[in-house]
Amino acid sequence: MRILVVEDELELLKILAQALREEGYAVDTAADGEEGIFRAESWDYDAIVLDLMLPKLSGMQVLERLRLEKKTPVLILTARDTVPDRVRGLDGGADDYLVKPFELSELFARLRALIRRANGQAVPTIEVGGVTIDTRARRATQGGEAVSLTAREYALVEMLALRRGQVVSRTEMYEHLFDENEDTMSNLLDVHVSNIRRKLGKDFITTRRGHGYSIDD
Ligand code: CA
Repeated sequence: MRILVVEDELELLKILAQALREEGYAVDTAADGEEGIFRAESWDYDAIVLDLMLPKLSGMQVLERLRLEKKTPVLILTARDTVPDRVRGLDGGADDYLVKPFELSELFARLRALIRRANGQAVPTIEVGGVTIDTRARRATQGGEAVSLTAREYALVEMLALRRGQVVSRTEMYEHLFDENEDTMSNLLDVHVSNIRRKLGKDFITTRRGHGYSIDD
């Protein structure tokens, strides 16, 4: 899953990007509103973390422009915990909000919920192909045994599981699993797929020649 963080406090931006990458997300960053809307319109992010007080374009302006084109889930960050701010953000098309300062664990939980809901998944656990995927713990179990997946392998499994029964194209997988800064070695999709098959069984992920991959019930 790929997330855009738009935040002009560079120290916070760095911390958020790093923490989200450690959680297994691909992360792009923008330090002002103009760069934020440019990226948000250029890619299909799984979620956007959007600060409200930004240079060039405010978070509200970014949100307004984004909502003309895209339904990407947006979590706004607001420094001021005033009710009118939150109401304006939610009315403006935001899906959730967090008041600064916040705990990273809460941000992660809210992002997981947003991404689940955007994929039509109401409950945090997915059962597919004999594997249980716990999107809260970001873990997979098979036959009651935890399966050790890397963060990236887990992200790939979760993406296909959220869209089980559908073919996900390689292009889409690249777009959602890797960010702009990753070296070419880290984004060898087929290597990740083959590692997952080794761990979860060769039939867990189906290759659709010329189309992409799928996980089917
Ligand atoms: Ca700010």
